[in-house]
Amino acid sequence: MAVWAEQLQRELAGRGLAVASVPGKGRGLVAARGLAVASVPGKGRGLVAARSFFPGEVIICQEPYASTPNRISVGSSCDHCFASGNLRKCSVCRVAWYCGSVCQKEEWKLHQLECQAISALTEERKKMLTPTIRLMVKLILRRKLQSEKAIPSSATDNYDLVDALESHISKVDDNQLVLYAQMANLVQLILPSIELDLKEIAHTFSKFACNAHTICDPELRPLGTGLFPAISIINHSCVPNAVLLFEGRTAYVRALQPLSSNTEVSISYIETAATTLKRHNDLKQYFFTCTCPRCIKDSEEDALLEGYRCKDQKCDGFLLPDSGKKAYTCQKCSISRDEEEVKKVSSEILLLSDKASSFLSSGNNSEAGSVYKTIEQLEQKHYHSFSTTLLHTRETLLKIYMELQDWQTALMYCRLTIPVYERVYPPFHPMVGLQFYTCGKLEWLLEYTEDALKSLTRAADVLRITHGTQSQFMKELFGKLEEARAEVSFRLSSGDEQIS
Ligand SMILES: [Zn+2]
Ligand SMILES: [Zn+2]
Ligand SMILES: [Zn+2]
Ligand SMILES: [Zn+2]
Repeated sequence: MAVWAEQLQRELAGRGLAVASVPGKGRGLVAARGLAVASVPGKGRGLVAARSFFPGEVIICQEPYASTPNRISVGSSCDHCFASGNLRKCSVCRVAWYCGSVCQKEEWKLHQLECQAISALTEERKKMLTPTIRLMVKLILRRKLQSEKAIPSSATDNYDLVDALESHISKVDDNQLVLYAQMANLVQLILPSIELDLKEIAHTFSKFACNAHTICDPELRPLGTGLFPAISIINHSCVPNAVLLFEGRTAYVRALQPLSSNTEVSISYIETAATTLKRHNDLKQYFFTCTCPRCIKDSEEDALLEGYRCKDQKCDGFLLPDSGKKAYTCQKCSISRDEEEVKKVSSEILLLSDKASSFLSSGNNSEAGSVYKTIEQLEQKHYHSFSTTLLHTRETLLKIYMELQDWQTALMYCRLTIPVYERVYPPFHPMVGLQFYTCGKLEWLLEYTEDALKSLTRAADVLRITHGTQSQFMKELFGKLEEARAEVSFRLSSGDEQIS
């Protein structure tokens, strides 16, 4: 066993976790406290619980080895804690932004070196500083500082863990390899005082592609990118038993369901409300074919998610293409829809979608809203009610009417998405909790107090599992819930009937 693996194994075993072979999927020795480090055929390594975990319990948390905000020079989030708002930029390099002197000090040892390097660049080169390049620069500098013992390292915080990450370099295509080589050259230009192994840097870029995580805020909006080597050990499933979320830049993996000892911990790398084909396409960058229970099931689920609805508007059956593909037949009542008719409506929707998205990109929300409304009407008649296409249109409409501050219309679309979310996501999925939260906030604004109480309660029930209970985000939710509860009991005690 490699030294890094032994160290990590000890660290994780102390928490009831182990880097290990997945039972039935690989080989490995069962250690006294957990399992052992081993490769899982077709899956790489795996993380296995060596004790039971309850829903909502933190399985593992980790600070990034290196991280960077997604937007450079604009100051969208603090370089250290990823907070937004009230940011000030480093006056020397004008690239790093901080929320205050505490974060600036925390980052200083690392940023000092980065700052010198960036400041020496021409304006032209500075423009080439993408988040990925910056992540690499920070990674190299951190390794240097740790090897010089200028900053401490530990079993879960050392370069050996990054070194051990899978790069899948042999499967990367030639164009991508050329790009990685160019990027490595650029990194060398940025850090001329450090002699770099350019081949190794190119490999590390390939590691980023399949191991780096998008750091999101509690509402799942992307803020930046980070490398969390211990978290990278966790394999993907389209029906995961755990979820990865962030507080600031710290990654937390929480159990979504009771995990018994010896269960492999899994998270989802991709959006799971999608057909098998779409999911496998999204997983291509990770170089494996998912064989989770959902992926090996038949196509009924896919027909719901991407299928057309029955000609009989009262029927909720899903349609499958006939063998000749000239028609789609309802699996419940056997009524068929002609292929030509389906094509005609689809192209009509496509035309309108182009128009709507151009309104949206030019910032004309009210025009975009009215075109999307027409699209939604057409899609309702065209697609199955659980179709992700229809769902995405409604999500867009929700966003547009929130922007327009038309709370009533926004609430209508929000409410329409919830049954679909509940169908396409597992019960404790952050998306489900967040949608209930949005619904509750809109109902509260519109003074539908009892409805708001119900929605906020549902939101809290889900999000306390996915997000924990300690963050500022959750405290705000609990505060709103208390407020709604107090208002409802006040209204009840004063005999006030709610009309909504
Ligand atoms: Zn900060
Ligand atoms: Zn600076
Ligand atoms: Zn799968
Ligand atoms: Zn039917």
